[in-house]
Amino acid sequence: MGKITGFLEYERVEERSEPVPARLKTWKEFVITLDSAQARTQAARCMDCGTPFCNHGCPVNNLIPDFNDLVYHDDWHRAIEVLHQTNNFPEFTGRVCPAPCEAACTLNINDDAVGIKSIEHAIIDRAWAEGWVTPQAAAVKTGKKVAVVGSGPAGLAAAQQLARAGHEVTVFEKNAQPGGLLRYGIPDFKLDKRHIDRRIEQMTAEGVVFRTGVLVGALDQDSKVTSHAGQTLSAEQLLAEFDAVLLTGGSEVSRDLPAPGRALDGVHFAMEFLPQQNRVVAGDKLKGQLRATGKHVIVIGGGDTGSDCVGTSNRQGAASVTQFELMPMPPEQEDKPLTWPYWPYRLRTSSSHEEGCERQFAIATKEFIAGAGKDKGRIVGLKTVEVEWAGGKMTEVPGTEKTWQADLVLLAMGFVHPVGSVLEAFGIDKDARGNARAGTDAVTGYRTNVERVFAAGDMRRGQSLVVWAIREGRQAARAIDEALMGSSTLPR
Ligand SMILES: Cc1cc2nc3c(=O)[nH]c(=O)nc-3n(C[C@H](O)[C@H](O)[C@H](O)COP(=O)(O)OP(=O)(O)OC[C@H]3O[C@@H](n4cnc5c(N)ncnc54)[C@H](O)[C@@H]3O)c2cc1C
Ligand code: SF4
Repeated sequence: MGKITGFLEYERVEERSEPVPARLKTWKEFVITLDSAQARTQAARCMDCGTPFCNHGCPVNNLIPDFNDLVYHDDWHRAIEVLHQTNNFPEFTGRVCPAPCEAACTLNINDDAVGIKSIEHAIIDRAWAEGWVTPQAAAVKTGKKVAVVGSGPAGLAAAQQLARAGHEVTVFEKNAQPGGLLRYGIPDFKLDKRHIDRRIEQMTAEGVVFRTGVLVGALDQDSKVTSHAGQTLSAEQLLAEFDAVLLTGGSEVSRDLPAPGRALDGVHFAMEFLPQQNRVVAGDKLKGQLRATGKHVIVIGGGDTGSDCVGTSNRQGAASVTQFELMPMPPEQEDKPLTWPYWPYRLRTSSSHEEGCERQFAIATKEFIAGAGKDKGRIVGLKTVEVEWAGGKMTEVPGTEKTWQADLVLLAMGFVHPVGSVLEAFGIDKDARGNARAGTDAVTGYRTNVERVFAAGDMRRGQSLVVWAIREGRQAARAIDEALMGSSTLPR
């Protein structure tokens, strides 16, 4: 434990951000990492409470009290070694993780939690700056070949672990660049893509081969999922060439809102809108980019994706941004004795909300309104009704119908399941939600019903979080290593 009285002496300090007017002018990250002295003080707040609930609350089980202690003692090199033991990519989680660890922090029972995420962020940024993050190529090769389909955080974590265990790993990705939703979903202002590029360089030096623009199987006719694939490979080709195949294709089918007028021009899924901006920031030339500039934007859906639509619309210069949420407004403060150490139900205000957004709760969309004359076929508004929730049931409140002006409506209501045809190409059994069916315990270990084929990440668990994808990728890598070699020294 760093400082016995640290939690009594020091207040929690949040990472600072660039002011809103400045950050709205760019696509750059705007959160300012704690400096070494600030991180040391924050780490001193850790009580090393004996039963580190934070470690259990973190899906990759980061050794939080250990790295807090090392940061307090100014041993940053060992701190990154400890962090890398459980997390391949702390620069991703240190930026975009919602930090369930902090909800579970013992100090959070009656005080502000230790700023674990900001300390993680400071450790990894310093490690890259000091040149401590280097390739760790396996000393001994096994001669076994593994194909990873999909290069999101689950596929990348698995590929890195498998390559370090000595296997020959090839990652197949249908998009032009690797990274999955890290690259094409999460906006640059939350996660600069150079963080992905550096890891791809590191992994390439460790022996991982990336084959982008390659679609494995086929896409559903109506999936609306993007692909830059120049080449298609069949499941049979992969199974013939590789000893094992890991499917980490994500969960890309968006939940739709089949209200009257859905087909109007100007009503789009969030994932038709967000990837285009990320591609433009990356230097791609797009014809007719879908933009919010000068438009009255309504975002339907209150989660991370909706919030990213808000931030992107504001940066593009929307005339107004309104976000609808079907559920009622949660309480501003959680009931800590009731919820700790679990993820609390409370109002969450993201940095994008702070940048300008009207939020409406308990509201349902009844109809997309078509324009007339020159606006024929285009959306000009929305009809809504307020709703009430009781006993898990929703009812409309009579007399609360309202019409809203809207030139662009973005549907951000989550994702229902992976693109089915990839799973069908391999003959993978699906669960009730349409995800790949595979267990996670030591026996079932990410195995699908098809011999030598494994599944992990959003493709297995449904749309989730980056940190869960990293966990699943790491655990699936161990399961594959065990299956190929009879035993494994990779961590679970
Ligand atoms: C807009 C948005 C914002 C988000 N923000 C956050 C956040 O702030 N914090 C957070 O923790 N989580 C966030 N998430 C969730 C998080 O991004 C995902 O849970 C995570 O990326 C899942 O990782 P994955 O590796 O399982 O899948 P993905 O990241 O979806 O990667 C799957 C990859 O597989 C490829 N692929 C699919 N099928 C094939 C095929 N047949 N052949 C070849 N390649 C294929 C896809 O092109 C894709 O690149 C967000 C999600 C979205 C959509
Ligand atoms: S990965 Fe997420 S949950 Fe784990 S320590 Fe970091 S911020 Fe907390």
